[in-house]
Amino acid sequence: MNSIRLRHLREIYTYVEQITPIEACGLIAFSARASAHVFDIENILNSRNAFEMNPHQQVAAMLAMERQKWDLGVIFHSHPFGPMEPSKVDIQNWRYPECGMLILGPSSAGWSAALFTVTDGHVYSLPLVLRGD
Ligand SMILES: [Zn+2]
Repeated sequence: MNSIRLRHLREIYTYVEQITPIEACGLIAFSARASAHVFDIENILNSRNAFEMNPHQQVAAMLAMERQKWDLGVIFHSHPFGPMEPSKVDIQNWRYPECGMLILGPSSAGWSAALFTVTDGHVYSLPLVLRGD
């Protein structure tokens, strides 16, 4: 993961807005270090404070990435009521040290996003690098 295209972030905000107050979740595929595609995935828990991805949609997205030679760079989910940081459960359940964890939360301007990596239970904040193309 490196930079996220603004249009992809807007796509994610739209999806988050559609299903709030349920947590939204999904995957961002990357190509040549920039976001290439967003996969919205159904939250089968239908919960306001937890998510679990629909496994069929998740596998379909992973297969599509393989076909397109994209990499899974970022996994996103929303915290409809904040905070803009990973929860204890998010950290415990995280199995993707090579991927970014993007968290979307409410802000005065609508939604905002914060990027993290989680390695061995440690959370690191990353700059969110956006590009306009
Ligand atoms: Zn969370």
